[in-house]
Amino acid sequence: MKFSMRWNRWLLGVTLGVVTLAGAAGVLNAAPLRVVSTTAMVNDLVKRVGGAEVSAEVLMGPGVDPHLYKATAADMLRLNRAEVVFYSGLMLEGKMTDVFTRMAKSGKRVNAITAGLPEAKLLKPADFEGHPDPHVWFDVELWAMCVDVVEARLVEASPERKAVFAANAEKARGELAELHAWAKAKAAELQVEKRVLVTSHDAYNYFGRAYGFQVVGLQGISTVSEAALADVAKLTDFIKQRGLKAVFVESSVSHTTIERIAKDSGVTIGGELFSDAMGAAGKIENGYDVGTYEGMIKHNLNTIVEALK
Ligand SMILES: [Zn+2]
Repeated sequence: MKFSMRWNRWLLGVTLGVVTLAGAAGVLNAAPLRVVSTTAMVNDLVKRVGGAEVSAEVLMGPGVDPHLYKATAADMLRLNRAEVVFYSGLMLEGKMTDVFTRMAKSGKRVNAITAGLPEAKLLKPADFEGHPDPHVWFDVELWAMCVDVVEARLVEASPERKAVFAANAEKARGELAELHAWAKAKAAELQVEKRVLVTSHDAYNYFGRAYGFQVVGLQGISTVSEAALADVAKLTDFIKQRGLKAVFVESSVSHTTIERIAKDSGVTIGGELFSDAMGAAGKIENGYDVGTYEGMIKHNLNTIVEALK
């Protein structure tokens, strides 16, 4: 009896030890899947769906402009070592297209997470040479649809983890639906005629469509071209005519021109918005981390709504 109790206790200890180990390294007790993403917004989705089963790395940090970003030698090493690579797509990472094409040709799992979005949901601005606007993450409902691609591609790379990825993806869809509802309610605090967003480059057209804002950008869809003088004068007139209270600068785009426009038209800078990059991970503001997608969305809406009220 004494012996058997001791044996049982030993067995329990071993079992608990194994369970703890499995918890730390993922359900399969195998090395996590190595996933590299371009932007932090993409990485946020990967982390939601992959959970403890992936080691998620991101190439572009806070304040980095993906339109202009070129892969460094260190990035190439990380990309080559990755088992799965995700990028945003729709030409957002315009200078990395060749890298992705080459990698895909060599058999690497390289995926644009926006690849599965329905054509009818994409905006096609006149001045972007027939290409869709890539800034889809600012419509939370549309961004949530990208969960499907992340889930499918992770399952392809590691079919034995299918159940975990499916459960995580379902949870992510629920959380993003909640965030979308929050964003709609926040926008509704502003009267419709006050919902006018003037900022540096046209990153907010999906945002405008989803949450009922008229959006006026200075630089166009990509930050590659500089603002023309005529645009500056036109924008100043527009701000005066509409009697706007504030305009906004962006974290990943130069502030100079918008600051001049604010001065010329006699309005304030309503704050700095996140456009194509998120904030620093772990930086807490009003209870949310601006280094997360949720924090990015909440920061932008709170900043816009408070400044335009
Ligand atoms: Zn952009």
